[in-house]
Amino acid sequence: MEFYSYEELLERAYKALPERSEEAEERWEAPSLVSMITGNRTFIKNFVEACKHIRREEKEVMKYLLKELGTQGYLESNVLVLLGKFPNKTINDKFQRYIKYFVMCPICGKPDTHIIKEGRLKFIKCEACGARNPVPQI
Ligand SMILES: [Zn+2]
Repeated sequence: MEFYSYEELLERAYKALPERSEEAEERWEAPSLVSMITGNRTFIKNFVEACKHIRREEKEVMKYLLKELGTQGYLESNVLVLLGKFPNKTINDKFQRYIKYFVMCPICGKPDTHIIKEGRLKFIKCEACGARNPVPQI
């Protein structure tokens, strides 16, 4: 058995932390959705990409957006098609709200989270600070 002084233990604990660039974390920016209206439809071209960026399932984000916009839609080869005309700002306001409530950790404000399900409850689990908070009902 090996023994370590307090300082050595601290140093070992510190070294065991995953290496992450502070700079990269601070530079995390919420993605914006790029949309285009054609006829009576609105096409969100970077939908799948944006979902990957915030690490959320496409169908979850889609469900939220459709509900918030009060419309129907479908995914067609990485593009989210909305039935109806929606200004880009309206879509992004909803999307940013989603990020605020379902992606950002309410404790430390970092986006390194994932959703865990326990029975019928959902929680936002933060990988940065370890906090676990219920997903808000909005
Ligand atoms: Zn956190």
